[in-house]
Amino acid sequence: MARNFDLIVIGGGSGGLAHAQRAAEYGAKSAVVESGPLGGTCVNVGCVPKKIMWYAAHHAHQLQHAGDFGFDIAVNGHDWPSLKASRDAYIRRLNEIYEKNLGSRDVTYLRGHGKFVDANSVDVDGQAYTAERVVIATGGYPIVPEIPGAELGITSDGFFSLPTRPQRVAVVGSGYISVELAGVFNGLGSNTTILVRKEGVLRNFDTMLRDELEKALARSGIKLITGFVPSSLEKTAGGINVLGQDGRVFGEFDAVVWAIGRAANTMSLNASAAGIKTNAGGFIPTDDWQKTNVNNIFALGDVTGRDALTPVAIAAGRRLADRLYNGMTDRRLEYDTIPTVVFSHPPIGTVGLTEEEARKEYGDSVSIYETRFNPMAYAFSEDKVKTAMKLVVVGAEERVVGCHLIGDGVDEILQGFAVAIRMGATKQDFDDTVAIHPTSAEELVTLR
Ligand code: FAD
Ligand code: NDP
Repeated sequence: MARNFDLIVIGGGSGGLAHAQRAAEYGAKSAVVESGPLGGTCVNVGCVPKKIMWYAAHHAHQLQHAGDFGFDIAVNGHDWPSLKASRDAYIRRLNEIYEKNLGSRDVTYLRGHGKFVDANSVDVDGQAYTAERVVIATGGYPIVPEIPGAELGITSDGFFSLPTRPQRVAVVGSGYISVELAGVFNGLGSNTTILVRKEGVLRNFDTMLRDELEKALARSGIKLITGFVPSSLEKTAGGINVLGQDGRVFGEFDAVVWAIGRAANTMSLNASAAGIKTNAGGFIPTDDWQKTNVNNIFALGDVTGRDALTPVAIAAGRRLADRLYNGMTDRRLEYDTIPTVVFSHPPIGTVGLTEEEARKEYGDSVSIYETRFNPMAYAFSEDKVKTAMKLVVVGAEERVVGCHLIGDGVDEILQGFAVAIRMGATKQDFDDTVAIHPTSAEELVTLR
């Protein structure tokens, strides 16, 4: 007979674990189905190992500038295999902690691949389980284009398996992953090229951020090739070539990384057996309450196709548990004003509307406050990494609707300002806040 639960969550990543654990804390008899390592994309092939690699490249930059402060340093190389070993060990420890956390909250861990039998039944590697509610949190996977030779390239998953650092690298794509991985390769010494099919990187971000980032990429030696649509990859005696639809050829590379977006992990979920609708990209649409078109089935995180960020998946999962299992009837995630950071070099932090979006929505009532400056950290350096900041405000009261930052430390600066902006802060509130000196962050409360 099938074992019965109040709740089965398919997918033990950021969102699924957050939901199942919160629901169990409220007394729901919960199970998590996971076919891979616990923690999902973020812990195993996403945010966590990526940030470790970002730190490595960040240290490389710091070492370059240490001489400006009187240090006599010779950098004799970088040991990628030893960094990878430490990183992998760290992640294994996290996997163990995640498993312990499930146990300590009495969440049943079902190892295997989950698929629907019907709206209340899930098959896990041949074993049937039933539940009053099922939550889909199966995340996504990196897209590989369907062109000849595409298999010669790797994805972000492959990046984390690289045993050594390739010397000549092409990263194809213009989004978060492209910019972040290119920054790591370049920082650690690879000759790095970014190939984008349109006019530049991060096209949905505020223009100021894109302009400043592209300048920083150029300054750091990363080549940015625009208007290039790959048509095939070919292996030659010297490496891998990327051939374009316009006849241009770039190469020879030791590694080509596809960073052209992610698709939903729904192909083998047998969602139709439960009557669940998916959209064209395979994503599962939900209403404002994370409910799919089937009453007892919910979806959250990357599989929904909205704001593919770990804290978003976690927040959606916890709020859903608060609502379903703790009587907090109005509790749900609002998907606006979500802060996000791109771990480029330097990093980008952004929240709210871009200038372009604000002008579209609010027209002439938009005002812009902007600054660009050399942070004091580069006081003695020839090669100064600029910081730029922009506030987008609307109306006579000058409510801040967008904040866009690029420069050292902005990844840590943004979070607090995001709280203020979510609470409806005005430019006057920023001005009335006493600055912290000497910092880069203080420029945000002294903008004129
Ligand atoms: P996932 O974490 O992907 O978890 C889904 C889980 O479901 C997986 O473990 C999978 O094995 C499992 N699964 C799928 N199908 C089945 C099935 N049928 N049966 C059983 N198990 C199944 N976000 C940030 O906020 N900050 C960052 O710095 C950041 N960096 C990133 C870097 C990279 C390289 C990538 C790829 C992503 C990054 N992200 C980052 C995005 C972040 O990782 C995702 O938004 C987040 O992991 C989504 O969580 P999730 O729970 O929706 O899905
Ligand atoms: P993104 O969606 O961010 O960017 C991919 C871009 O690649 C597209 O926007 C598109 O840009 C371009 N592209 C799409 N198809 C092709 C193609 N066939 N050939 C060439 N270029 C193409 O995807 P990523 O893979 O970078 O990341 C996925 C998501 O994961 C991110 O959106 C983000 O939500 C999350 N993430 C978050 C991080 C963070 O928080 N720091 C870090 C990494 C990922 P264009 O139209 O300009 O060509």
